[in-house]
Amino acid sequence: MQRKYFDYASTTPADPEVVKVMTPYFYEKFGNASSPHSVGREAQKALEDSRETLARFLGANAEEFIFTSGATESNNQAIIGIARQLKNKGKHIVVSQIEHHSVLEPIYYLEKEGYTITYLPVDPVGLVDVQNLKKALTGQTILVCLIQASNEIGTIQSIAEIGTIVREQNIHFHVDAVQTVGHIPVNVKELHADTLSLSAHKFYGPKGVAALYVRKGVRLPSFLMGGGQERGLRASTQNVAGAVGLAKAIQLCQDTMAQEADLQKKLRDTLLNEIPKRIAGVIVNGHRTQRLPNNAHFSFEKVSGESLLMSLDMAGIAASMGSACTSGAMEPSHVLRAIGLSDELAFGSLRVTLGRWTTEEDVDYLLEELPKVVKRLRKV
Ligand SMILES: *Cc1c(COP(=O)(O)O)cnc(C)c1O
Repeated sequence: MQRKYFDYASTTPADPEVVKVMTPYFYEKFGNASSPHSVGREAQKALEDSRETLARFLGANAEEFIFTSGATESNNQAIIGIARQLKNKGKHIVVSQIEHHSVLEPIYYLEKEGYTITYLPVDPVGLVDVQNLKKALTGQTILVCLIQASNEIGTIQSIAEIGTIVREQNIHFHVDAVQTVGHIPVNVKELHADTLSLSAHKFYGPKGVAALYVRKGVRLPSFLMGGGQERGLRASTQNVAGAVGLAKAIQLCQDTMAQEADLQKKLRDTLLNEIPKRIAGVIVNGHRTQRLPNNAHFSFEKVSGESLLMSLDMAGIAASMGSACTSGAMEPSHVLRAIGLSDELAFGSLRVTLGRWTTEEDVDYLLEELPKVVKRLRKV
């Protein structure tokens, strides 16, 4: 049986080039980057070179990045840290209703701790209304958090425009750029981000290593306790091999991003156009053009997304409903609710995400199998 992977938004395989450059850092170059001897210095040098590469790619300075264990940690640290740092200035935070759980959960925590949260709605294609956001800002607002591109429906927000407004009011702007870095051009200065998170495993790097941009001048408390690494911002021995892999992954993206995006857009648009032609009772979610090059997202009437995924899996196709079911309890996705889908449609959702190794053949296979599977499921 063929095995086709259409879940690149959940994670990507590491590029073989990435694994190749990481390998020495598990063996002969295994040093602790904090050690003052030559083995340590070698690790330190690799770590700092990786930071340079990352910073260059995103239009920042190397000292504005810390390496973390995942974008979950990056988001947690930025949000909790900024809220604590600025609590004497105000206790109001603005976020969209379609953030990732690694943003929403620390926000819920802060709400319980007495912060006031404005959850901005989005329109039916998933865009935050800029004027609406502007109106939500008050003298008490200390933080605005926005996801640059939705990990579910792929809609890309007008971050630069929003960033300009937030910066003018001297409010901290945190951007979750996990789905965009490595896939579309991201420049922290152009976005006016004060902090920004990204994760290597979403752009062909290893899992368990990520970064947080912290703009020069921003005071952010450390989240972990017990060491002075990463300029005191992130305790714990650095994951040198991971950082080297992250940097290599980003460098490969820089070289190939434009071409890859063009190819993926073509395949994505084939899916967005063809699936509604071949299957009745289906809607396309998200913005038609202001969307990730690799994301297609659909809702099917009278089909359970879970059964759909299982049936596709049996046909050798790995796709997603768009959000990992974290609670175990079946709740429709908060993102799909926010764009106004009924529970029935939300439960009948399918996210198809493409990547570096997706071929036209893969897409053809999906276009062939999906109508059969939907038809069969609707019969039972
Ligand atoms: C995957 C993802 C995260 C979490 O990243 P990890 O490195 O897996 O912790 C956060 N935000 C978005 C938008 C994501 O897609």
